[in-house]
Amino acid sequence: MGEDSAIHIMGAGLSGLAAATVLAKAGKEVHVHDIREDSGARFDGDFQALENWSMGVDFFDQLKEWGFDLSEFKATEFDIVDLIHPDNVVTQATTPSVAYRIVERGTSDHTIDQGFKRQALAAGAQIHYKSRVKEEDCTIIACGPKGTSAVAYGEIFHTDHPNHIGFQLNDKLAPGSYSYLIIIDGIGLICTCLWRKQKKSERFLNETIAWYEAHYPNLNRKPIKRVGGKGDFTINRNYKQDGRYYVGESGGLQDFMWGFGMRMAVWSGVLAANDILGKGNYEDDVRKHLMPYVRTSVANRWLMNRVGDRMFKRMCTAWMKDQKKNGDGLRWIGKLFRPSLFKSILYRFVSPFMLVKDPKSMGRGVRRMPFRKALKRDVWEQSPEAVAIGEQWNEVRRNGAKVSFAKDAETDNKPQ
Ligand SMILES: Cc1cc2nc3c(=O)[nH]c(=O)nc-3n(C[C@H](O)[C@H](O)[C@H](O)COP(=O)(O)OP(=O)(O)OC[C@H]3O[C@@H](n4cnc5c(N)ncnc54)[C@H](O)[C@@H]3O)c2cc1C
Repeated sequence: MGEDSAIHIMGAGLSGLAAATVLAKAGKEVHVHDIREDSGARFDGDFQALENWSMGVDFFDQLKEWGFDLSEFKATEFDIVDLIHPDNVVTQATTPSVAYRIVERGTSDHTIDQGFKRQALAAGAQIHYKSRVKEEDCTIIACGPKGTSAVAYGEIFHTDHPNHIGFQLNDKLAPGSYSYLIIIDGIGLICTCLWRKQKKSERFLNETIAWYEAHYPNLNRKPIKRVGGKGDFTINRNYKQDGRYYVGESGGLQDFMWGFGMRMAVWSGVLAANDILGKGNYEDDVRKHLMPYVRTSVANRWLMNRVGDRMFKRMCTAWMKDQKKNGDGLRWIGKLFRPSLFKSILYRFVSPFMLVKDPKSMGRGVRRMPFRKALKRDVWEQSPEAVAIGEQWNEVRRNGAKVSFAKDAETDNKPQ
């Protein structure tokens, strides 16, 4: 493509729209193509957290610096979270600053996806939905996850419970990972993440909901729909290949430990756009700004894969001890996410064993973290309460409620 020719972006999610906005603002002709009917359709009302602990700088300050208008989407700030230990003890992690902001993903006006879409359109980008293009014909590849390294399932419901967040480390309910409860303005989400591939995976969500119902008796939950999706965690030899920029999850720029990928998605989109505008070098910038965090998360994931509830309990205890000593619950979690010499050495040793080559990566040298196998301890029967929750959901579904997880298969030929 010549210097002045139009720039085609594959994927109108966060990374693609961020890149499109920066480019269009600089006067470039930008076309964004998405196979779905709208930005955010992949998520359909899911709540997600914009983490604010992994770096010294507030993510919203970064967004402002890059020229994004924060009033275009709804974000609810939290400085507190219920930390739910594996033995059901509940403590609270708090911070004097903003710990994270909850945003909604989807196609409603107030979602972050629609907020980014409006900004891309206002800047002059043209977005083509239900448009299939070839990777070879695009300059920026921003189409989210391709393979599956982990999955998350959630239920969205009406509730009269006040705004609240719970974060639970429990290896039975969320194998190798965590579950959470988010309540914002009368809408709740209970979600469980599975970092090991399971049979009859619905039981994990049912059992998780049963757990929250038992421990948060005032939820008064009225199911609306079930959502979910997959995460794709890869390390790439090249992030720019044959003139194409791989951003967001298409470039594997994700948090291997817990899946907080939105910040890296937007950031990588901005870096790719800057390179095109002659204001940076994408390959170098990704390695400098993002890869230290990605590599740290690989090391963290390796450690997480080796532990269970006993270690999760120790983590919760250490977190609370650190908070008591330093008066800030963000410090401990921030340290876990930040690069260190130990984590970078660990990464070198463990990554060859953790990652598997993707032969279809168009010469980019992609190594993916495969979806791990289930362990013996993952085989269990649902409690009567969880069975009842499953039956309640079947009834709600028969009356027309949606499950949006299945749509994710559009980008992956393998059944999940
Ligand atoms: C259930 C779930 C919960 C999550 N929770 C969090 C969280 O709390 N915090 C956090 O930071 N991250 C979270 N993540 C991760 C986060 O959502 C992703 O890392 C982030 O959205 C990646 O942005 P992206 O731009 O790479 O992809 P997306 O935002 O997914 O956008 C990709 C776009 O490309 C389109 N597309 C796909 N294939 C094609 C194709 N062939 N051609 C054209 N377009 C295509 C899709 O339709 C989509 O619109 C979660 C993920 C899941 C699945």
